[in-house]
Amino acid sequence: MPDPEHTAIYAADLVLPISRPAIREGAVLVREGRISAVGTISDLRKDAPDAEVRHFPGHAIIPGAVNAHAHLGFRHGDAPEGGSFSNWLAGLIERLPEKEAWTAEAARNSAREAVEAGTTFMAESSPYGECLPQLAGSGMAGTVYAEFFPGDFDGAGPEEIVDSVVRKIQDLRGGLPERVDCQISVHSPYTVDPESSRLAARRARELGWRLAVHVSESPEEVEFVRNGTGGLTDIFGSNEWGGAGLSPVRYAESIGLLAPNVIAAHLATGVSDEEVEVLASTGVAAAHCPRSNEFLNCGVSPVPCMMERGVRVGMGTDGLWSSPSMNLFEETLFAVKLHGFNGATGLRLATLGGALALGIGGETGSLEAGKWADLALVEAVPSDGASELEILEAAAGGGVAATVAGGRLIYNRAES
Ligand SMILES: [Zn+2]
Repeated sequence: MPDPEHTAIYAADLVLPISRPAIREGAVLVREGRISAVGTISDLRKDAPDAEVRHFPGHAIIPGAVNAHAHLGFRHGDAPEGGSFSNWLAGLIERLPEKEAWTAEAARNSAREAVEAGTTFMAESSPYGECLPQLAGSGMAGTVYAEFFPGDFDGAGPEEIVDSVVRKIQDLRGGLPERVDCQISVHSPYTVDPESSRLAARRARELGWRLAVHVSESPEEVEFVRNGTGGLTDIFGSNEWGGAGLSPVRYAESIGLLAPNVIAAHLATGVSDEEVEVLASTGVAAAHCPRSNEFLNCGVSPVPCMMERGVRVGMGTDGLWSSPSMNLFEETLFAVKLHGFNGATGLRLATLGGALALGIGGETGSLEAGKWADLALVEAVPSDGASELEILEAAAGGGVAATVAGGRLIYNRAES
């Protein structure tokens, strides 16, 4: 926990607050884990003459990355083959028994990789919240969304299943660090039946909880939901609710899964203008995972159109079995190239965009007095006219030299 007495100034050649213009020879004054002021080094030194100054010449300070959709429990190297979502998922399911032996270690390593890439907040989804201990131990702030699979409940009814999941989450919430919590996830339209999904969404609303869901990720999901056929039907033959005659977005809307407290991941296949309109009107937020979508041949999410219509969009790395790294800035650089965004839009998506999508825009995502001191120190030589794109490229390419979450230095390359 941050030492409440501790005051520090983080100073660098350039500070990019995101919510206001860049500051040359800038600094961030941190007190009790939160940002107390943002300004020039000389001004902040006058404001807090006793503060310890941590000066990073040749660096830029940006807000820490907010990863809006990730899975920690996968590892590098032995991913199931990509190319098709249903083949990949079949491979993943086949390996679940052997995976148990290394999930915790993978989660620790994935979290560490994210921290070393400047991530300060992560929205993680894992079965029954299994990666909560590793997120809690990482130094990052974040939420673990506990996924549940009705098939695991020995024929219990939706009511009983959702009650049991809610109780489990309430238990998991005990004894967590201040900025780590556990919420609920409805995994997807092809793994959770409509009634359990509807009940989980309703309970989440009643309890004031947040909810995460995968929606409209793959061509196979579109086919399952619309027609009840295709590759996912081969895997989940007993899931008889497919064939709703709707797009996944319309289906999710029909069972109450799209709402402002929900983060919907992927939205990569089968999202037309009409579906974007549905997303905008329900207030649901989106997590964009373009590298995973490419690996699994899932298409390109219409993110520019969503942003234009006011849908809140954040970036997500997904997990290491469908994505090459846990570096959210690298994911974002990929999106910048894919959609033709400029660097400023990219940096905003990776930070404040994710925070707004997750409903925590008042707490993190930009460098403003009152927010948590969540910072990434990026080794970039901000020569005259150094652009946001150069800083994003540096952060994407291993240039994060230090990460500060809630005022605590959780990574410092110079000292590790
Ligand atoms: Zn996912």
